[in-house]
Amino acid sequence: MQLIIATSNTHKVEEIGALFQGTLPFEVCSARICGGMPPVNEDGETFIENAQKKALALQQIAPSDAWILSDDSGLLVDALDGAPGIYSARYAGEQASDEQNVNKLLEVLESVPALQRTARFICILCLIDPDGCVMYFTGSCEGRIAMFAAAGAGAGFGYDPVFIPNGYAHSFAELGEAIKSELSHRALAVRSMCQELQGLDLRST
Ligand code: IMP
Repeated sequence: MQLIIATSNTHKVEEIGALFQGTLPFEVCSARICGGMPPVNEDGETFIENAQKKALALQQIAPSDAWILSDDSGLLVDALDGAPGIYSARYAGEQASDEQNVNKLLEVLESVPALQRTARFICILCLIDPDGCVMYFTGSCEGRIAMFAAAGAGAGFGYDPVFIPNGYAHSFAELGEAIKSELSHRALAVRSMCQELQGLDLRST
């Protein structure tokens, strides 16, 4: 059974693929096997709406017996009343790079002291089975925003260089994939999905 990830973000495909290893009998594929992720106008007002839009867009061009999985995720900073939230990918502008988004966040938070830099990552997964049944799963990860992006923190993506999960002194980018795959918002959402699906007879769907 193929599970096709509705994203053009290779980091997300890699993270989700790794999280699935040894869990369910899916061959995790990127949208490239359908010719690429179709463009989606992420103008929903919630993570759920945007996740659903992405999954439905890929479903249009995917093989009818495939499962489709999309992820909509973002960073919510308490001192910014939940911003950048659903705008995380384009916080510094429509075509902003990860580095530009991180720099804008650090600028906006410049005068905010360490104890008030609390934040969380949220992930909503939208899963569509071959019968068209749509399911949602969520995960969140609490932490804080660092004062500076760690030097040499090349790993990870998005806001990984400045997000320090609770219980740690270093950012996701510095901690690396092994730790991120234990506690990230995406890991928790995938785990919740796997628990739900492990109770089902998947091959009969
Ligand atoms: P999406 O692709 O529309 O869901 O946008 C999600 C955006 O949120 C990404 O471009 C990142 O900026 C941010 N984001 C989501 N998950 C993560 C993560 O695991 N690490 C760092 N940034 C993330």
